[in-house]
Amino acid sequence: MLILPLVAQPFQIVPQPQKTELLQGDGLAFGSLTNLKMTGKLNRPVMGDILSQLTESYVSGSGTLTLKLDSAGIAPESREGYLLTISNGNVEIISAGEAGLFYGCQTLEQLLEDSRDFNTPVPACKIIDSPALSYRAVHFDVKHHLDHMNYYYESIDRLARYKINAVIFEFEDKLRYQRQPLVAAPQSISIDEMAALTRYARERHIEITPLVQGLGHATFILKHEYYAHLRELPYDRWAFCPMDEGTYEVLFDLYLDAIEATPGSRYLHIGGDEIGNIGLCPRCKPTADKEGILSLNLYWLKRVCEFAKENGRIPIFWDDMPLKEAGVYESTHKTDINFEQAARDWEEGKPILEQVISDFPKSCVYMRWNYSTAQQPGNLFALDWYQEHGLKAMIATAAQSGPAVLFPFDERGKGVSSRGLVAIQSFVQLAAEKGIDGMLCTAWDDRSPHMETYWRGLIASAEYSWSPNGRTLDEYDIAYLQREYGASIPDYTNLYGLLREAALFWEKAFNREGGRMNLNNALFNMSGMAHWLTPEEQKEQKASDKTDFTDRLIELPDLQNPGSWSKKYAPRLTEAASIIDKYQHTSTVLDSIYRESKRNRYHWEIFSAINDFQIAAPRLLLALKQCDIDNKAQQLAGNEEVRGALTEFDKAWGDLQIVYGKTRFISYPSTYVPDPYHHYASQKEDLTWMIQVEELFHKMVNSWMDSNQLH
Ligand SMILES: [Zn+2]
Repeated sequence: MLILPLVAQPFQIVPQPQKTELLQGDGLAFGSLTNLKMTGKLNRPVMGDILSQLTESYVSGSGTLTLKLDSAGIAPESREGYLLTISNGNVEIISAGEAGLFYGCQTLEQLLEDSRDFNTPVPACKIIDSPALSYRAVHFDVKHHLDHMNYYYESIDRLARYKINAVIFEFEDKLRYQRQPLVAAPQSISIDEMAALTRYARERHIEITPLVQGLGHATFILKHEYYAHLRELPYDRWAFCPMDEGTYEVLFDLYLDAIEATPGSRYLHIGGDEIGNIGLCPRCKPTADKEGILSLNLYWLKRVCEFAKENGRIPIFWDDMPLKEAGVYESTHKTDINFEQAARDWEEGKPILEQVISDFPKSCVYMRWNYSTAQQPGNLFALDWYQEHGLKAMIATAAQSGPAVLFPFDERGKGVSSRGLVAIQSFVQLAAEKGIDGMLCTAWDDRSPHMETYWRGLIASAEYSWSPNGRTLDEYDIAYLQREYGASIPDYTNLYGLLREAALFWEKAFNREGGRMNLNNALFNMSGMAHWLTPEEQKEQKASDKTDFTDRLIELPDLQNPGSWSKKYAPRLTEAASIIDKYQHTSTVLDSIYRESKRNRYHWEIFSAINDFQIAAPRLLLALKQCDIDNKAQQLAGNEEVRGALTEFDKAWGDLQIVYGKTRFISYPSTYVPDPYHHYASQKEDLTWMIQVEELFHKMVNSWMDSNQLH
């Protein structure tokens, strides 16, 4: 049997508490806790399925959970910390704040879940716990998709279990803005509904921070002709003109709506990254020529920070543009820049930054993003530079990884450039060492993997931002599986590795070279533009009238010259066969873990659907190989295989959309104004951006069958 729950420790609290001591005497049997006693003026915390069954009582007796606000200074100082004692059938949680009582209850709920699932009493113990970082946020990015409202509510419950206390919700066009209604996508969330979610989250000690992109990343606003006059370049939807007052009128309206949608929250994330082309319009050029692009960036930053302050919010800002203008940005993320080179870059860059230091708003949080291990010397210099100048920095790590479309990959063993869990652990540990007390785990929607596939990373960020030096990554995976699913897979890392291998093959299966991006970008470049291209390059691309992109994909077997195709693509076909061999194993494991899971089974539905979908690519290649033979009868038999593979793809693709559709809207309403650009997932208004390669390749296969009279 693959599922062996008892290989895991019976009790796995996530995030790992700072300190656990076993005590003498009896602990707590599952089901024996019946009463809740609260001393002092307290609201009953929101509780999980088990603890919410307790009856409130004024007397102490056996089977009582007592919640107490600390007045004697015995609990940890942090209002999120708690002291939990389990002894002789009773539990006591003491905290300096209501958040700490809430977290103590979450810990107890997890212990009782394990006690029930493993049929073993919770031992007598004392847990002293508090977080390493005080702002622990995850990212909901709805740039190119929207999940169902109930999925957001469920996600809040799930995050609260792991003591995450903030969500940075990147609204893009999915908030039904009232002051600039044109910006709102037709299916967007109303301000009232978002405010309700914000209140629901706050009851679970999670603060929703709105993120509305500003200067760059503004296609969702500037795609509308109505706003075209605010573009820095008339043909570029990416960036606003920072010197046009109209820019601020629009942005401030959007911010006001975002603030109303998140009542009571402390922060406003104003974006500000990857701006690209500014300083080029007649209004900006004189300033850019005289004072540099950096001054334009800082002018915009100053204006939006002032607005945030006037409206009672602390602004958060992606910090890459000032670093870029000072020539130090590359040193913060490139993995081949050594210490000496980075030191030289900073030696030259610091005076540029320091010349305008008074223009760096003090009220702002500078969010230093790095999605690898973050150990690049330049990244360390950047964090130190903020501290030296009294600027508040937070860090942003990532649950996603570069090329992954179907699900995020774990890329360990690649040194500094490792991605996935090792990057999350590493950057959060670094933040804790440097006394930085805020982190965000991003979950970018550029390639729009299903939100469900981000959870392993999101929960890892909860684990390490609370307890940076607790579990190893392998220990984390065991704990994660037990907490999230009440199950375990002895070779989980291996399963993930096999799924990843198949996903990487799918990514390049039909491409002549490189991955899907090759074709997607070619298709998109007919009309679009990337923010890192110069105006000249953009114009050049727009001038291209190419419409046939079949040369990006591999050709089909030449039946006049049988065997040559199979020879040419032998390594690819061997790999395809190997992936198909392993598929049987991955399906069995996924099926088994699905059945054994006690909660969140949907997670495995998603992975099973992905597994079935991505296997269609190697199947089609092997079917084509069967046709590539000097025998008409066998060619016809091979052709049956090809048709079978195409049918199988249609089914897997249909199933994938059904499974995705259980929690997300899989297409935009017909009145949506398209917004295609270099982000993979922006290129279509339904999920078909995922299969642009298949759409073209399958068409090629069908006409190939026709021309070879194989039908
Ligand atoms: Zn301008």
